[in-house]
Amino acid sequence: MNAAHHHHPDPKLSYNQGEILTCLRQAKEPMSAYAILDRVRTAGISHPPTVYRALNDLMQKGMVHRLQSRSAFVACDHGACDGKFAFAICRRCDKVVEIPLSDDDQAGLLGLAPDEISPEKVTLEIAGLCIACRPAETA
Ligand SMILES: [Zn+2]
Ligand SMILES: [Zn+2]
Repeated sequence: MNAAHHHHPDPKLSYNQGEILTCLRQAKEPMSAYAILDRVRTAGISHPPTVYRALNDLMQKGMVHRLQSRSAFVACDHGACDGKFAFAICRRCDKVVEIPLSDDDQAGLLGLAPDEISPEKVTLEIAGLCIACRPAETA
């Protein structure tokens, strides 16, 4: 619960990792690997395996997260984090908000697993409508 556990990601990224991270940070919405490939072609990255490898490395570093529900990727809202997070996603405009989970939150979610499944990780995505997409409230 203090700075002692602050996570420092490796600041040294390869060229490909840097390009792909920049691309995702500039994107206003989650991007599929192919949408990323389309965008980074101008930077000289043109092979899907290259994109997947860089994405995997960035995910390992906690700088990029994968939205399981849409097979898309987003840059971490906090630069990098340790894997304890959930997402709230606007179903209309694809706005994504990262929600940090406490150790207790995560333990509670993992604890929902039944005896026959030993829990390893949890993915939580909440769908809804963002403020911009909500119908105007009648006063
Ligand atoms: Zn994060
Ligand atoms: Zn929205």
